[in-house]
Amino acid sequence: MYVGTSPGRLFAVRLPYGGDLLNSIKSFAEEAGIESAVLWVIGAVGRAEVSFYDQARKTYVKHSFNQPMEILSCTGNIAKLKGEIFVHTHIVLGDREGRAFGGHLEGGTIIFSAEMFLLELKGVSLSREYDKVTGLNLLKLPENP
Ligand code: ZN
Repeated sequence: MYVGTSPGRLFAVRLPYGGDLLNSIKSFAEEAGIESAVLWVIGAVGRAEVSFYDQARKTYVKHSFNQPMEILSCTGNIAKLKGEIFVHTHIVLGDREGRAFGGHLEGGTIIFSAEMFLLELKGVSLSREYDKVTGLNLLKLPENP
């Protein structure tokens, strides 16, 4: 399953100090009128909330990091879910000793600094739908021959 798209606007964004990382990405997309996009963020957080999807139980297991960490990598996409803009992002965080941790980005991850590049996708309106096999809301894409 796949769909072709074209690059639209490319934004360089400084997300706000003290803001919630996930919400700040969503707010930016709403303000800029973006419905489909890919994105990358680097920077640092004061604390973080991530989760791991337990494939057998089909539930997310949460992990909290109550300390400053680097955003070594944060990559994701934007699509619509039930008519709302939905940001799906994963994050790799580094601690003082250089160890890396990560997972599915959750609300409650607080920005110290965050530089985002976001590429809008044109010629497509990405949306998500529930997938019974995985229990996840996956991208709804055409069945290709
Ligand atoms: Zn995820």
